[in-house]
Amino acid sequence: MNTIAIDGPAASGKSTVGSKVANALGYLFFDTGVMYRAVTWTALKHKVNISDEGAVSAIAKDIPIDVQPPSTDDGRSSDVVVEGEDITWACRKPEVDANVSAVASYAGVRAALSEQQRRIGLRGKVVMVGRDIGTVVIPEANLKVYLDASAEERAKRRYDEIIARGEDADYAEILTKVKERDHVDSTRALSPLRPADDAVIIDSDNLDINQVIEKILALNTR
Ligand code: C5P
Repeated sequence: MNTIAIDGPAASGKSTVGSKVANALGYLFFDTGVMYRAVTWTALKHKVNISDEGAVSAIAKDIPIDVQPPSTDDGRSSDVVVEGEDITWACRKPEVDANVSAVASYAGVRAALSEQQRRIGLRGKVVMVGRDIGTVVIPEANLKVYLDASAEERAKRRYDEIIARGEDADYAEILTKVKERDHVDSTRALSPLRPADDAVIIDSDNLDINQVIEKILALNTR
């Protein structure tokens, strides 16, 4: 099995770094966050109350989430399709950001999604990114990286990304939301965000994307 697990907090650059590492190695890139986002988006679409754990968990169990390599060159790192609809960008909207951590704290949601993720990870030749890949989903991964950066740096990168897409953004608001999401993700009872004991921690505050990618590729030859 050649599986690389990359975990880390919101907007730490996991997707950008992970997809480039996967490209360089000829591996599949799999962003597990989009599955939690897809469940959240579907619950909102069907006007399911997000605090209704049973109903939200039923969505995770019953509605297939199709995550495939990107079909369009518009900056996406994968295609996310639910009920025939391409929700790749829709599942990144602030409404989903605001509710996804609550959804991801539910046992039924985590069980349904981590089982699918584990199956994909065990096939090997995959770079899988998320919050609990090294600790829970694929603890036997060959290389585990925990990609960190200060909340300020992460909010700034997210802000730049949104502005580059031609949309409006408010840095202070993004920073508050990033901190909120980190707090919920790292204090939840199930699979909280934390580095695996044997993870290599990379702090990217003073590194650019290419330097982070080079570090990971160098570690992968161990
Ligand atoms: O990585 P991204 O920010 O897209 O993830 C969205 C949310 O999904 C996270 O804030 C977290 O609550 C949840 N998540 C998770 N476990 C993963 C990946 C994401 O709980 N492996």
